[in-house]
This record gives sequence, structure tokens and C-alpha cells, in this order.
Amino acid sequence: MDRKTLASKTALKRPIEIDHPPADGLLPTDLLPRLRDEGYDLERVARRRAWVEEKTGASLRHTGSFSFDSEQFRGNVENPIGVAQVPLGVAGPVLVRGQHANGTFYVPMATSEGALIRSYERGMVALTHSGGVQTAVIGDENHISPSFFFPSVSLAHAFTLWVQEHLSALQTEAATTTRHGKLLGVQCFPIGRQVILQLRFSTGDAQGMNMIAKGADAVCRWIERQYPGSGHFLFSGMCSEKRASGFIISHGKGKRVTAGALVPHSILKMYLHVTAEQLFRVWHSTVLGHLRAGSIGYNAHYANGLTAIFIATGQDVANVANSACGITSFELDPEGLFVSATLPALSVATVGGGTSLPTQREALEMMGCYGTGKVKKLAEIVAAALLGGEISMGAAIAANEFVAAHERYGRNRPK
Ligand code: NAP
Repeated sequence: MDRKTLASKTALKRPIEIDHPPADGLLPTDLLPRLRDEGYDLERVARRRAWVEEKTGASLRHTGSFSFDSEQFRGNVENPIGVAQVPLGVAGPVLVRGQHANGTFYVPMATSEGALIRSYERGMVALTHSGGVQTAVIGDENHISPSFFFPSVSLAHAFTLWVQEHLSALQTEAATTTRHGKLLGVQCFPIGRQVILQLRFSTGDAQGMNMIAKGADAVCRWIERQYPGSGHFLFSGMCSEKRASGFIISHGKGKRVTAGALVPHSILKMYLHVTAEQLFRVWHSTVLGHLRAGSIGYNAHYANGLTAIFIATGQDVANVANSACGITSFELDPEGLFVSATLPALSVATVGGGTSLPTQREALEMMGCYGTGKVKKLAEIVAAALLGGEISMGAAIAANEFVAAHERYGRNRPK
């Protein structure tokens, strides 16, 4: 079909409000309609959806079914056409004995991976019967790492000394941009005549990336004014936002949290169908596998639990890339197996981002974790939940139940 015929076939019955000229090689009708006021009201969302239906031939009936005011999409998505519905399940109970989370929790998990929630549930119940999971938040700061450029190594080095002397001025500048973000410190990482600044912020209950990018932008502009001759880029990549790195394993990013429990022999047998020695052997053998692969950190499947919890609770799901860098440890103990999960780079929020979207807020409220003063509680619950997933996965491998469990819960063969 030539473009002209395609254009007439896909012509809308109602005119759309196009405010941009066609780009070379594209017809105006190929470009997504720009609707007045960005088009968040129900009527414009429906019109955009109808446009996509006509353009692609797909029926978007389910995409267009949702229960809340579409104006709430604003700030979370552009060109809205509806919702992507993901099945939501619940795992637990998990008993957490933490610094911020204390009690029994049911954890919402949104996923399309069958067997995943059953596996987490099994591990959480085993941990609860073991007397619960002790947790602690051992660090809480997010980083952003702009780079500055100089004509020579010696000028770059002089800059690193100047920066250290001006910390309080940098803090004042950052404070003009946010009420909740605080610039805690700055460290310089010179590379030849370039200097990467690591700006360390506390971010309250927010994940903080928008907050600290704005703060860092103000700091960098101030530096350029005060220190003529320096140029900068806001991002160097060293802060490892949305990526795995050795840096975040050792320096952390976001919430650093650790969770541990002693699982008695009887609970291992009854709920996980393994002995402590069997589970320890799986851990030892898979540590070797991870070493052979050059993995960053070691864990069975933090990414599974994190992704499901992040989707359910409105976290930025791309932060699974950094959050899943962590270390699971199993130790033989005369009374059973001591198990722990340590996450040095957990990006979670109970304020901002997608946390206020209606179902995401409900999911946070299930754990008493919506809003101000709740983010460390959420971090501890997440760590305890992930530990449940670690022992359950290890046990499924040790007891040779992994494939059978997926055959039972996790297959969707096309009809
Ligand atoms: P945000 O939703 O942009 O900002 C959080 C807001 O909540 C701020 O306005 C903050 O006020 C306010 N706030 C109210 N009570 C708070 C409390 N108790 N603790 C902390 N803040 C409180 O969220 P963000 O966490 O800064 O950014 C997260 C979003 O950034 C995610 O959606 C992610 O997708 C996106 N992101 C951005 C970048 C980037 O480089 N810009 C990169 C990756 C991801 P104040 O600002 O006055 O403190």
C-alpha cells in the first residue's frame, strides 16, 4: 500500500490537533497527535488511543479500561493511551524484626512469571516460622557524578583541592533546589585532566534522582561561575544509576540494607524439603558459577522479587539494574543454616515517582509504607522478602523441585 492510500485509510473521523510540521519522509498522519495541554484528560486519552487503534489495527479495549482519573498520569507518562495491566499477587506472611519494620507483612508482587510468587511465599513462611528476619538499614544516600574538564593534569588536580575547601558553599547551592535533599559530601575522582565529582545526597523518602539531578545541576553551574575555565557534563556514568557496578557494591547507592535469619533444621526439612548441608552445597556451588561468570555480587534471583515489588509499588523498574547488585550468604550453624541478603544499592521510595499512582499507592498501603517517614521500613521489608526468595530458589534446586514447580505453576503454552 502506498503512503497516500495508507494515509486516506487511516484518516481519523474526527480532526486531530497537530501542532508540528511533518518531518522529512513522514506524512503528518504518521506522527503521534500532539493534543492540547498534552492530552491527559479522559477524552484526549481516548482519542489518542483510537488513533493508535486505527493506525495499527489492534483493539485496545483492555488498555483503555481503568478506574482512576487519567490526569493522574501526568508526570509519569507522556502520550498516554491507557494502562498496561499486570497481574498482582501477594506473598507472605513475612515476620520482620528490623530497625524500621517490625511485624508481619504481606508483600504485593506484580508479575507475569508463574511460580515466582509461590516460591517467594514459601521462603517467607519458612523465615517467619524460624522466628523472623532481622533487618537493618546500614546506609542511606544517593549519588550523582558529574565530570569537569581542564586543560591539564595539574589544573585538574588543583580543582580537586578547591572543591574540598568549598563543600559548605556547594551545600548551600544544592539546598536552594530541594527541601528534602541534602548534599552530604563530595569526593573527587581524577582521570587525567578530567575530574569526576561524586556528590552524595540524602533524599528523604524519595528515590531522589530528579531531586539530586536538579541539586547537582545548580552546584555545577555555581562551580563554573566561581571556577572559570572549567566545563562540565552533569552525568559521567560513575554513579551507576540503572546499571550494575563494582562501585555500588563497595560504596552503595540508595538504601544499604541487610537482612538475616537462622533457619532451624526442622523448618528446613518441613517447609523447604532440604537439609542445611544440601542448601549450603547449592550456595557454594553457585558462588563458584558466579565467580566463573565474573558476576557483580552474588544472589540467586534478587531481580525477580525486585521487579515484581517495584512494578506493584510504583518504583522506577529500571532501578532493578542497580538494586539487584547484592550478596546472599548461607552459613552452616549447629542449629541450622544462617541465611542473609545484603543489598548495598537498593533504590526505593515511598514518596514521588510512581508511588502515588492509585494501585501503586494501595500496594504500599498494604505494607503500611505509603508516604513520609516510611522508606526505610519499605527497604527492610523488601530485603526480608528477597531473602525468602533466595532460600526458596536454593531449596528448589537442592531438592530437584525447580522444574516440577514451574511445570505446575509457570507454563502458558499457546492454545
Ligand atoms: P520526584 O517525584 O521527582 O520528586 C519527589 C518530590 O517529593 C519532591 O518534590 C520533594 O520535594 C517531594 N517530597 C515531599 N515529601 C518528601 C519526603 N518526605 N521525602 C522526599 N521528598 C519529598 O522524585 P525523585 O525521587 O526526585 O525522582 C524519582 C524519579 O526520577 C523516578 O520517577 C525516576 O524515574 C526519575 N529519574 C530521573 C532521573 C534524572 O536524572 N532526572 C534519572 C533516573 C530516574 P523537594 O524537591 O522540595 O525536596
